[in-house]
Amino acid sequence: MPSVISDSCVKCGACASICPVSAMHVAATQYVINPDVCIDCGACIAECPQEAISTDAEATPEAIKFNAEQSKVCPNAED
Ligand code: SF4
Ligand code: SF4
Repeated sequence: MPSVISDSCVKCGACASICPVSAMHVAATQYVINPDVCIDCGACIAECPQEAISTDAEATPEAIKFNAEQSKVCPNAED
């Protein structure tokens, strides 16, 4: 189950720097994770100082939808 970022994100970039598959994208108000790219390693969950990242089993339906949609249209954080 892919990880999901909530609106508690403050765009610090810490998660993107450790993701092994560059799954993070930068939306206008927060980072988001592409669920088709995330390999569910869980590394980013512990890395976030805001505790903004969770598995999709714990995330809200709104956050899951936002991450899936915005990651398709926003630039990759590693670009
Ligand atoms: S769980 Fe792993 S692969 Fe998925 S976004 Fe986080 S660091 Fe990247
Ligand atoms: S580590 Fe947390 S606060 Fe920082 S960009 Fe990632 S999700 Fe946002």
